[in-house]
Amino acid sequence: MIRPELPLIDPGFGSSVRDPRPGVAGVKPEDLAAWFEERGEPAYRATQVLDACWRGSARSFEDVRTLPGSLRTALAEAFRWTTIESETFVESDGGLTEKALHALSDGSNVESVLMHFPGGPGRRERWTLCISSQAGCAVGCPFCATGELGFGRDLETAEIVDQVRGAAGRLAGRGGGAHLTNIVFMGMGEPLLNLNRVLEAIAALNAPRRFGLAARAITVSTSGVVPGIRRLTDLGPQFTLAISLHAARDALRDVLVPLNRRWPVAEVVAAARDHARATGRRVSYELTMIGGGNDTDADADALAELLRGDLAHVNLIPMNPVAHTPWRASPALVVERFAARVRRAGIPVTIRHNRGVDVGAACGQLAAEHAGQPLAAVVARRRQRLEEASARALRGDRSDEPVPAGVGE
Ligand code: SAH
Ligand code: SF4
Repeated sequence: MIRPELPLIDPGFGSSVRDPRPGVAGVKPEDLAAWFEERGEPAYRATQVLDACWRGSARSFEDVRTLPGSLRTALAEAFRWTTIESETFVESDGGLTEKALHALSDGSNVESVLMHFPGGPGRRERWTLCISSQAGCAVGCPFCATGELGFGRDLETAEIVDQVRGAAGRLAGRGGGAHLTNIVFMGMGEPLLNLNRVLEAIAALNAPRRFGLAARAITVSTSGVVPGIRRLTDLGPQFTLAISLHAARDALRDVLVPLNRRWPVAEVVAAARDHARATGRRVSYELTMIGGGNDTDADADALAELLRGDLAHVNLIPMNPVAHTPWRASPALVVERFAARVRRAGIPVTIRHNRGVDVGAACGQLAAEHAGQPLAAVVARRRQRLEEASARALRGDRSDEPVPAGVGE
């Protein structure tokens, strides 16, 4: 947990004991096959379980009628059918966005957001699911509601993919062929600080015998964990990489993305550039646009200079207001002006709007309201600190605060 001096809210992470049984959807097929082998069962039993887990409508091992009763019981003793204990849903954007709050076995809560983008002329219909990789986040970007919660724990592989299984099941239940077309790791947490589990989850989502989603339909978003980006590049598969850049200048990025003090902008962009070259895939750079913060002409020019000639795409997203910050979204005209300046350098720019803003379900804005409201006096102190830090950053001073403990060690 970072910023221990500012205990804003009690997120209630992990207050009860975690169920020790692994979630079945996170178990590697070879491990499941070995489990059956140990019991003298044929290898096709593992395939039956995987098929039921990823494709069927079963809601428990008991529903998997292709298996004998004794095996169903043994499976339920060894594994959990799902790691999500209970769920609540909130709809917004006229039904186009649905936020799910998932309660896990130890009492941690994480969220996922399902977004519908109806088709149109020259546009395919999309169903995008934004998923969480950690309960809370240690990076602590000051404009992010998740960062404000601090770090709870890494999610298990099954806890990540069960968000997807749940949404896929709900969509299948609607009928009419609706299905998930895209998955983005833009919910709670920093995926590259839980990389082993995230990679296992991606393998499950990508494998034809399991979820079977094309690698390029899966986007991993990072605040700039350079060794993690390099590991992704070495793996080779063509996932989409999104970098949460927010600022091209170190002094400002030190404040907006505290991880920058460990891996500065030039190192992050160099790793992303190598990734684009190695995979032939455009890297997305995300900038949350903060009024009077990172939206000046000087910032646009610094960004254009940084990315000139790269295989890159810039997404500008007006900041969703978060209670504890002194900041607000940049006005639309300012965002357009910023976009035009960056485009002049030949870099494609899209202005996006976050979904689910009214229910706190915008990607990256996920933080459960049930965590409780921060105290007004603490918010005021935090705002003052942020204002001072951003004023320093805008003057071009590097931050003198230490890198948050537990980040990127
Ligand atoms: N930790 C990873 C992935 C989750 S955050 C990362 O930072 O990339 C997903 C995205 O939502 C990030 O680009 C993040 O900067 C953005 N985001 C966070 N808080 C936001 C806010 N209040 N308004 C708009 N975008 C926000
Ligand atoms: Fe963590 Fe991403 Fe939020 Fe930063 S923006 S605190 S890295 S979840």
